[in-house]
Amino acid sequence: MKLAIFGGGQLGRMLALAALPLDVRCQFLDPVEAPCAAAAGRHIRGDYEDPAALEAFAQGADSATYEFENVPVAAVEHVARLIPAAPGAVSLACAQDRGHEKQLFEDLDIAVAPWAEVNDAGSLSQAAATVGLPAVLKTRRFGYDGKGQVVIRGADELDAAWDAVGAQPCVLEAFVPFQREVSMIGVRSREGEIRCYTLTENVHRDGILRRSTPVEGDALQPAAEAALSKVMRALDHVGVMAFEFFVAEGRLLANEIAPRVHNSGHWTIDGAVCSQFENHVRAVLDLPLGETALRQPCVMLNAIGSMPATAELAAIPGVRIHAYGKSARPGRKVGHVTVLGCSTSELRRRLAMLDALIDA
Ligand code: AMP
Repeated sequence: MKLAIFGGGQLGRMLALAALPLDVRCQFLDPVEAPCAAAAGRHIRGDYEDPAALEAFAQGADSATYEFENVPVAAVEHVARLIPAAPGAVSLACAQDRGHEKQLFEDLDIAVAPWAEVNDAGSLSQAAATVGLPAVLKTRRFGYDGKGQVVIRGADELDAAWDAVGAQPCVLEAFVPFQREVSMIGVRSREGEIRCYTLTENVHRDGILRRSTPVEGDALQPAAEAALSKVMRALDHVGVMAFEFFVAEGRLLANEIAPRVHNSGHWTIDGAVCSQFENHVRAVLDLPLGETALRQPCVMLNAIGSMPATAELAAIPGVRIHAYGKSARPGRKVGHVTVLGCSTSELRRRLAMLDALIDA
């Protein structure tokens, strides 16, 4: 079988690596010259808005999917007229707009921090009065890894914050003094079957994910599964979805969804029976879903900026290396490692050995 994937970044590369043992070949549409997924499948260089490129991309494929959420909705709709596409344009359009996303959470009775729409400098001061300060101003569209957002601590910072986000439609969200951040990753089949992974605890720095740890038996697992399932059903989502939450006063507060495989689920490659990548491939190609159970305690660490030397990582027992084949650049995700242990004490010892190599 053949799977056509919008985007040729590391998520596409890992989808293709998971697809190959199922005898599924992947082809990627990406406008850049040498995307890192090209090492794992066929790269079609073209623009997402070029109908000829979209047609070449869909040619011979059994299904289409996307690995990042800034694909133009019209491009997915175009390809969906040629071959089955999953997740659908509805999931994509919702995740592309923080306003729609938050409205959907509220409609589904999923708790969110106080928020308000902001369309101009005037509505920002109104929103600040409603939501309260400190708060976070976030662009409705095209934000990722903490980009497109500014923390506002006092009323004297409103104008500067509006300029800093580029004076565009935003949401203002109350600053959440969270105890921790967690995500729930799950997959939904075309028939509507849902399977969820172990709740994952995430640590961010400068808005970028650094470390993810699946926490077996977390008391919030059922609530997180329920919230994710509600959203997937409401959007008739097919494939993997990630739901990020803040935990404040012991309760989940919805942050955002990603209608795709997600960085906080990379541990599933080595730590779950069937990874998020394989399950996404299975779902979009209408194959039975795989087991999502955790196999072993593990922790995923992101390599940001540059990848440590392979030989040094490989010398640490229990470390699985995932380099994305990307050149070093400050703030860039260039790889990750997952460290596994038979017990939490063994895992801790191994993590301590990684301290000198990865600043996560
Ligand atoms: P986001 O792109 O919305 O996931 O934001 C990136 C990171 O910024 C989050 O994972 C949090 O660590 C932090 N952040 C975002 N929104 C808030 C908020 N309302 N309160 C506190 N921290 C936040």
